[in-house]
Amino acid sequence: MSITLPINLDKYKNIVLFTGAGMSAECGVWTYRGKGGLWHEYNWQEYACQRAFDKDPEKVLKFHEMRREKIHACKPHKGHYLLTMLQKLHNITIITQNIDRMHQKAGNENVIELHGSHWRLRCLKHGVINDYGIKYRSYRCEKCGSWLRPDIIWFEDQLNEKVIESAIEEVLKADLFISVGTSAVVWPAAGMPRYAKQNKALTIEINPEKTDMSAIYDIHIAEPATTGLISLLGNA
Ligand SMILES: [Zn+2]
Repeated sequence: MSITLPINLDKYKNIVLFTGAGMSAECGVWTYRGKGGLWHEYNWQEYACQRAFDKDPEKVLKFHEMRREKIHACKPHKGHYLLTMLQKLHNITIITQNIDRMHQKAGNENVIELHGSHWRLRCLKHGVINDYGIKYRSYRCEKCGSWLRPDIIWFEDQLNEKVIESAIEEVLKADLFISVGTSAVVWPAAGMPRYAKQNKALTIEINPEKTDMSAIYDIHIAEPATTGLISLLGNA
């Protein structure tokens, strides 16, 4: 299938942007998996699973605090700001696998974070606490003194079913589905373009390289996030 670019968004009622590591890579956020990723440098078993946290919470919190400091210094790119502008004119939901808050930093709204956020902590007893600073306000819950756990989906964690359900609900309503910078081979990410197809959405993939999922999409745009979004959606 071929379309004329930029696409006319007026034709679509429910637009879903589905973003992954490639959306943040151009902000300088270290990618996690794959060659040169964070989990090549650091052993996730020591830093990013419940077992590691139970063994040494302070070590795990220090690691995440270091990651926050790095990400805090990163800035959203033109693609993020383009979405902020377009959200004023169109109904756009953003579903992201990223935990870095780059979308919100650029002013994006309606963001569903599938894998949690670096800027949230949770106490088993007292629930989730927002903490937007560079450093954590405290490693321990102010109410009960227990260690706070980063509110991120770690390795070996269950996904948050409520969050996944709300994401799927949006995708099932979508008439235009655009994925940006994700190879999405694992569930639930891999399921998203299939759900979009169920509703006969036009599906578009922006990714410099073809992925195992590319065949599902109607259109593949072989570009990084910024230039790909600008060629697809026009320059703000
Ligand atoms: Zn507590």
